Amino acid sequence: MGEKTKIAVAPAIQVGGSLFTPGQLAVMGTIVGPDAKIEMTPFKQIYVEIPLESRDAIVDELQRSGLEVYPAGFVTKSLIACNFCRGAEEAGLDIAKELNKAIAGIETPTPIKVGYAGCALGTSEPLLKDIGVVKMRDSYDIYVGGDAKGLKASLANLLVSELNETQLIPAITTLIDFYKVNAKGKEKFSKFVNRITLDQLRSVVEQGDGGNVSINYIC
Ligand code: SF4
Repeated sequence: MGEKTKIAVAPAIQVGGSLFTPGQLAVMGTIVGPDAKIEMTPFKQIYVEIPLESRDAIVDELQRSGLEVYPAGFVTKSLIACNFCRGAEEAGLDIAKELNKAIAGIETPTPIKVGYAGCALGTSEPLLKDIGVVKMRDSYDIYVGGDAKGLKASLANLLVSELNETQLIPAITTLIDFYKVNAKGKEKFSKFVNRITLDQLRSVVEQGDGGNVSINYIC
């Protein structure tokens, strides 16, 4: 048997939520081959195990059907967004798509989940994610350190509030960069937040230079 690889497949971020078309499901069911393992993950991606030698052709076909394909494993997952029930504009669909483009697939010490909610009702559960974004009328709040797993599950804490559209994406990428540089081995993001403290993370986000800031310098 040839070597296998895993890819993560998701529908585009859109009004209505994680919607697949029948055509997309048909393409996925045929192109990946009869022996592929297909797994629904808790973070709105479908993991598909496929032959390594067919990877490029399969990815190509899936993308042509309108599906999005990301790396699986230790990366920032594609944005776990809400259903935008308040409409694309009011719930911030465009910025959510841009944010997804900026973060999905970044290699990280442990998998990072970023949640996005288009209003304070937060039906995508952003406070249970490593990083949560909540749109509040015309601005954005960022929460960090949520962890839905285990008996010590915890809610994310407010890190910064009232960011505008141009501040939001750099703030999130700064956080991820900073985590990449300063995590101790495979330290979970929620533990990392507790160790570094919210105050220090705030100053890192304000400096906007996570990839170049090492904890040795800011302690
Ligand atoms: S978070 Fe708000 S805008 Fe998004 S689906 Fe839930 S209620 Fe609708």
